Amino acid sequence: MRPDGAAETTAPVWICATCGNHYPEAPSPPSVCVICADERQWVPPNGQRWTTPEELRAAGHRGDVREVEPGLLGIGLDPPFAIGQRALLVRTAEGNLLWDPPGFLDQLALQAVRDAGGLAAVTASHPHFYGAIAEWSRAFDAEVLLPEADAAWLTRPPERPPRTWSGSLPVLPGVTLVQCGGHFPGSAVLHWAEGAGGAGVLLTGDTIFVTPGEDRVTFVGSAPNRLPLPERAVRGVAEAVRPYRFDRIYGGWWTPVLRRDAKAVVERSAERYIQWLRGEAPAG
Ligand SMILES: [Zn+2]
Ligand SMILES: [Zn+2]
Repeated sequence: MRPDGAAETTAPVWICATCGNHYPEAPSPPSVCVICADERQWVPPNGQRWTTPEELRAAGHRGDVREVEPGLLGIGLDPPFAIGQRALLVRTAEGNLLWDPPGFLDQLALQAVRDAGGLAAVTASHPHFYGAIAEWSRAFDAEVLLPEADAAWLTRPPERPPRTWSGSLPVLPGVTLVQCGGHFPGSAVLHWAEGAGGAGVLLTGDTIFVTPGEDRVTFVGSAPNRLPLPERAVRGVAEAVRPYRFDRIYGGWWTPVLRRDAKAVVERSAERYIQWLRGEAPAG
């Protein structure tokens, strides 16, 4: 039965209300969200909560579509849901790629992607942001790209089997996925060579975390549980992006954005982070 007393005609897709990840259609939800039960996420003090696309629609969540810069469309939700990430659609002459989709999509979001020329591929920085990936894939018959190291975290298998990759993967002209590790073994960034007026852009989700002052970045084992990364993982992230040219970084949310000089900021921030880990930075 639904909350309004009417019978469900079909089994719903279950969505974790905390992280926004989808689980397969079933008459009742799973007992746990494996993503939230993991140490890098969290379960509400009163226990696991589930929702459905129908409930989210009824609660008034709507697509929130904004041009972030020429060639880059942001697709979030208003009000935001779960972790609150907004997706980014990277547009190229040979097709578009969607990055870090939230856990709900509506007709407005679908129409915005149709108007932008559709979808060749959909992927995410890491499992916390897999969201409605299977739904997007089905809507456009888009390829799902997952790092081999994290593929097992996808909780709702798409109809079209995902393509796994490791190391780096050129997806479209000037669009490359780069495995950095750290937060998750498969944590990735997307390098977009034409972004920032040709100076280059990284889309990073939680892989490289832009801080509120928009003047540094940080690295997280877990953001909500305030867990750090070890030195070797921080060095691994910095090394993975070093071969690429970029001046700007978009994290997982509309703001903050590291607007300029991002390449030097990543190097500087990584060194400073390691000084803090080693107890070599003054704590006041
Ligand atoms: Zn969850
Ligand atoms: Zn995360």
